[in-house]
Amino acid sequence: MIVAIDGPAASGKGTLARRLAQHLGLPHLDTGLLYRATARVLMDEGRDLSDVAAAVAVARGLALLDFDEKRLRGRDMGEAASRVAAMPEVRKALVESQRDFAHRHEGAVLDGRDIGTVICPDAEVKIFVTASPETRATRRALELKNQGEKVDYAAVLEDIRKRDERDATRSTAPLHPAEDAVILDTTTLDVAAAFKMALAIVEKASVAKAGPQLIP
Ligand code: C5P
Repeated sequence: MIVAIDGPAASGKGTLARRLAQHLGLPHLDTGLLYRATARVLMDEGRDLSDVAAAVAVARGLALLDFDEKRLRGRDMGEAASRVAAMPEVRKALVESQRDFAHRHEGAVLDGRDIGTVICPDAEVKIFVTASPETRATRRALELKNQGEKVDYAAVLEDIRKRDERDATRSTAPLHPAEDAVILDTTTLDVAAAFKMALAIVEKASVAKAGPQLIP
């Protein structure tokens, strides 16, 4: 079973995807890390983030499960990743490896922005996780604080609004729910409640996939 979890920045989709994968015993791919890692390498090499040829070469060379997450999670990296992710050529370079990951195993959980719409339109489960920008900014600010970063709530909220705008209006694979996605608004939910609802969505889809059962 492929579980596609999409949603805007800091909506809680990463936490949900990780928990679902653990609970279901499936491998998990956080696809945001691919764009973050591409941007990170460009920055480390002193290249411009708008250098399409360099970005494509970096994206093609990424090892999917080998990320230094700590270095990729900083506040500036979300913005840099979103700039790189707006390049159609970079997205194209990353499609196959994501699809391979989804189909290589007995199932997988992938989270990102375009999993249900572009990468795995055939996913049995599609959940679009969202929350108000203010709630997302509060969560993100706390996360950054816990990582030891100095945070300014207003700046984090501004980052989130800017990133939403870029991700939702880019020409290729813009952020929007797939037509058959279930929308999960976590604005008023804590992690446990959101997980319970997500699991219910997965279980309902598993029953539908199994089809009608004969009762002896
Ligand atoms: O999910 P995360 O915040 O780590 O993603 C960082 C950026 O990578 C997003 O703002 C988005 O621009 C891009 N991204 C994407 N498609 C994905 C995952 C992430 O465009 N499937």
